[in-house]
Amino acid sequence: MRIKKLKLVGFKSFVEPAELKIETGLTGIVGPNGCGKSNLLEAIRWVMGESSPKSMRGAGMEDVIFAGTASRPPRDFAEVTISAERGFDDAANDEDQELEVTRRIERGAGSAYRSNGRDVRAKDVALIFADAATGAHSPALVSQGRIGAIISAKPQERRQMLEEAAGISGLHVRRKDAEQK
Ligand code: ATP
Ligand code: MG
Repeated sequence: MRIKKLKLVGFKSFVEPAELKIETGLTGIVGPNGCGKSNLLEAIRWVMGESSPKSMRGAGMEDVIFAGTASRPPRDFAEVTISAERGFDDAANDEDQELEVTRRIERGAGSAYRSNGRDVRAKDVALIFADAATGAHSPALVSQGRIGAIISAKPQERRQMLEEAAGISGLHVRRKDAEQK
C-alpha cells in the first residue's frame, strides 16, 4: 500500500483545510518546533484507527479537534482523509486499487469512518490497514520515544510488533471476532 495524499480539516493545529501530496520516493517534512510535523504523523495514525488519546498526546479523543487560539475560535469537528493505492496482492480488480478512508470526529458525537464513500466501522478500517501491514500501530510509523519503548518492551509486546510488521495481525482481529460469535 502506498499513501498518496492526506487531507486535514480542523485536525490539531491544521485549522484551515490542508492537503499534502506524497510522491513516490522519500518525503521529508521540515519546519520549526511546534509547526505541526508530529501532528501530521498523528493524523496518519488517527485516520487508520488509533483509539488511544494518550498516543495522540491528548487527554481525550476530542483533543484532536482544533482547540482555538487567542485570535481564532475552536472548531466543532476534525476530519482526516487518506488516499492510498493498494498493493496488487490485496486488490481484486483495478477499481479496488484506489483506497480513500475518512475519519471525522465531532464534539460530543464521537468518530465516524467512511471508506471509498461508504460508512464503515472502526473495525473495518483496522482490518484494511492491518492486512496491508500498515495501520495505527504499524512499526512503519516511528514516533518520538518509540525506539526506547521497543528496547524496553516485554516479549509479548515485541511479538505483537513483529506480527504487525509481517502483516498477519489482521488474522488475530478475525479470530477474536469469530470467537465472539
Ligand atoms: P517539534 O519539532 O518540536 O517536534 P512539531 O513540528 O512536531 O514540533 P507538533 O508537535 O506537531 O510540532 O505541533 C505542536 C503544535 O500543535 C503546538 O503548537 C500545539 O499547540 C498545536 N496543537 C496540538 N493540538 C492542538 C489542538 N487541538 N488545537 C490547536 N492546536 C493544537
Ligand atoms: Mg515533533
